[in-house]
Parts: sequence; structure tokens; C-alpha cells
Amino acid sequence: MHDFKDVEPRNRILELPESIRVLLAKDGLDRDPDEACGALFGRLSPEVITVDSYMPLTNMAENPRHTFTFDPAEWVRCCYTSGLIGIFHSHPTSPPLPSISDMEGLQHFGGLLSLYLIGSKFPANGGAIQDEMPPGTPDGFLLNAYSIARRSNGSYFLENLIMSY
Ligand SMILES: [Zn+2]
Repeated sequence: MHDFKDVEPRNRILELPESIRVLLAKDGLDRDPDEACGALFGRLSPEVITVDSYMPLTNMAENPRHTFTFDPAEWVRCCYTSGLIGIFHSHPTSPPLPSISDMEGLQHFGGLLSLYLIGSKFPANGGAIQDEMPPGTPDGFLLNAYSIARRSNGSYFLENLIMSY
């Protein structure tokens, strides 16, 4: 396990349009009890991450209820599309917090991406960064947002991101 608390948060802000939050929630709830997953496209600055679009991807995991694996062909296409900044996946039965397998997966693609979103049905049994439904959040779905950062030893970790509404 990685210790998230040994680095000062940089207070980067995430701009996530309500239209995209609705799409993420719909995908998460539509694919329940499997994990939904997909790619996020947008723009980066040192202070702000802006999401412009979301592309759902097929979850090819052997056990999609507990993990996600992108369809390789779909994922490669995303990697060659300009503006790929991050990924989203859902946790159908647990809070939207990074799991051990999420942190293992992050080590493989952390260098490609800046943004990591996890969504869960609300209430998510505690553990969410936001403990109240943010204004405009689609009913029944909670998102946690993280930026992907790199330690001096080359490993990747997740920092909490503040969402702006
Ligand atoms: Zn996960």
C-alpha cells in the first residue's frame, strides 16, 4: 500500500461540467453491478484540470464486478486521441476510494494521465471526500477526484482534487 499522506496537497482544482457528471453517473448506474470505466478528455494547467468529454470503454475484466480492464483496442484508440487526460471507473459496492488493485494499475499508466475519477452510488458508506451530495450532482452518485502525481522514486500516487461547481 502507498501512503497518500506524505505529500502536501497542491490544491489543484477540477472543472467538471455538470453534463459530464451526469454522463459518468449514468454510466456507473447503468452498468451496475459491474464496474463502469472510460476515458476522460480535456485540458490541463498547473492550477486547473478541465474535463471536456467522456468516452465509456468496455470493461473486459474477468470479474467486472470487482475490477476493470479496458478493451485494449478501444484504449489504444484513446491513447492516440488528443486531449486524453484521465480515466473514470465506478465502485458498485464500496466507497469511491482507490483500491489496492487501483494503485497497482496506476503504476502502469500513471505517466500517461493526470486525472483519476472514481464514482459510487450514494451514500457510499463513508470514506468519500465529500460527505454531502454536491449541488448539481445527479441523484444517487458520488464522485471522488484525484490528480495523478509521481514520487521521486518513480512510483505514482493520487492526490485529492477539489471539484469546482
Ligand atoms: Zn477501483
